[in-house]
Amino acid sequence: MAGGDLETYVHKLYIVDLKQGTVKLKNKKCPRCGSIMGYHKKPVERWHCGKCGYTEFIAKPRVGKR
Ligand SMILES: [Zn+2]
Repeated sequence: MAGGDLETYVHKLYIVDLKQGTVKLKNKKCPRCGSIMGYHKKPVERWHCGKCGYTEFIAKPRVGKR
C-alpha cells in the first residue's frame, strides 16, 4: 500500500458538515466484535455490523410539532 492511501481512507471515516460546523464519525466500531460498522440511512438511520449482525439505531432528537 502506498502512503497516500491513508489520507483518502481517513476522509472516508468522517462526515464534515459545513453548515453545522460538525464532524461526525462515519464509520464506527462494533461494540460486539470490534469491526467497522456500516452506516445505513434507509429505511431508518442505523449502524449495522456485517460481521456479527449487531445493529444500533440512531435516536433522533424530535423536532417541533406534537
Ligand atoms: Zn460486529
